[in-house]
Amino acid sequence: MTDSKTQVAVIGAGPGGYAAAFLAADNGMAVTLIDPAENPGGTCLYRGCMPSKSLLHVSRLITEAAEARAWGISFGVPDIDLSALRQWKTHVTNGLTQGLGRLMAQRKITYHRASAAFADPTALILTPDTGQSRRLTFDHAIVATGSSPAVLPLFPEGDFRIWNSTQALALEMIPETLLVVGGGYIGLELGSVYAALGTQVTVVEALPHLLAGADRDLVRFLQKGLTDRFEAILLDTTVTSIKLQEDGVTAEFSGAGAETIANKSFQRVLVAVGRRPHTAGLALENAGVTLDQKGFIRVNDQCRTTADTIFAVGDVAGDPMLAHKAAHDARIAVEAILGKGATGKRAFIPAVVFTDPEVAWVGLTETEAREKKISVETARFPWAASGRAATLGRSDGLTKMIIDPATKHILGVGIVGPGAGELIAEAVLAMEMGATPTDVGHCVHPHPTLSETLKEVADSFDGIATHYYRPKRKP
Ligand code: NAD
Repeated sequence: MTDSKTQVAVIGAGPGGYAAAFLAADNGMAVTLIDPAENPGGTCLYRGCMPSKSLLHVSRLITEAAEARAWGISFGVPDIDLSALRQWKTHVTNGLTQGLGRLMAQRKITYHRASAAFADPTALILTPDTGQSRRLTFDHAIVATGSSPAVLPLFPEGDFRIWNSTQALALEMIPETLLVVGGGYIGLELGSVYAALGTQVTVVEALPHLLAGADRDLVRFLQKGLTDRFEAILLDTTVTSIKLQEDGVTAEFSGAGAETIANKSFQRVLVAVGRRPHTAGLALENAGVTLDQKGFIRVNDQCRTTADTIFAVGDVAGDPMLAHKAAHDARIAVEAILGKGATGKRAFIPAVVFTDPEVAWVGLTETEAREKKISVETARFPWAASGRAATLGRSDGLTKMIIDPATKHILGVGIVGPGAGELIAEAVLAMEMGATPTDVGHCVHPHPTLSETLKEVADSFDGIATHYYRPKRKP
């Protein structure tokens, strides 16, 4: 077995892993990045964020073309060339992963297409698909192996009728009917894609509401939009058994929506019930790295594991399982290795669901405040009062702010509406800067834009919003 040595070994080349590898290399360290794929990218680029957002862009185009009828513009029924669409999605993904490959080469990072397992706290065994294993010793290692779709025993894995997000994104066919199990990020995003492509989509969600982490008043707008586009959304409902048919599945349900879909069959089923941290095969026990009760690698505020020289970032190191959280973790871990910066301060991590309308939030939600009995004040600005939203024909939005009644600092912001994912970035900046609504209200926002909804909601808290009347609060 050949031996080599590196300063930093990074296992997994997704947004957490490649961000860590690039930053460590930019700081002059010798870096080895390990992943079985041809180029860096991980789940996000190969079978997650990027392909799904390419397809969501297409679905938005299809639905917007249909909506244009209300403005006097009629297009024909879309003619979908599935093979061309698949090629376009792959073209986007390949362009991005190849770009990362070039950035990695420019930084002189050593890349091994292999799987890694710990031999001890200072060494890894790298096993390629073909060829000999090699031993790599390191000063520091960063585990960034991400997560994989959660499975439900009811649904046989690998069956062509049962999809997880990877199979749904493969875009092999457009089923006539699709049962989506789980009304979270993936179920609603990919459900939207297939509904736009012409599939009759039924969502069953075990909880009494969609998107458990988001505030109800935001989700309400999305649910209304999806109710028009989906065949059915059944809350408080679960699948109790399934029967595989030649080219489909019949299912039995229990809960509130069970009667509505009794005896229905579906050509395909998409199971989207969460993701699980990916630690299998890493032999973490050889390195003294331990897991918490949920199977995440246990880390401290610096992303350091229970082994002093080993760090873990991204999905494998805990919720939220979001690419930008992984990239932020990567910065914390590398700064800790460099012995600089890493204060351990956790940042505000925004969440965005790329449906239509988009739902985005950051910091404290009103629901969480209520559950934890945290006293808050709130302000809301309905997009029905936004000129820009009117010009887009999209008054189906809301911007809200959650404020600390004592300090007047902004504790959270929630937005629903087209482009909410872009708008939330301003809220993140304001919160990181410790801004109050008055600070945001003093910032000049370009007119006419949806960004003004952030200024208006801030002004509305102070009782001075121009386009929305909300009397000043009594002190
Ligand atoms: P999720 O946690 O967002 O949603 C899963 C949903 O399934 C939940 O609402 C849950 O109540 C429901 N559920 C669980 N068991 C069920 C059952 N037996 N029957 C019916 N419903 C059931 O998980 P996801 O949609 O699979 O996505 C996984 C993770 O991937 C997300 O949490 C997110 O972190 C990440 N992700 C993010 C984005 C984005 O940033 N836009 C997009 C996709 C995925």
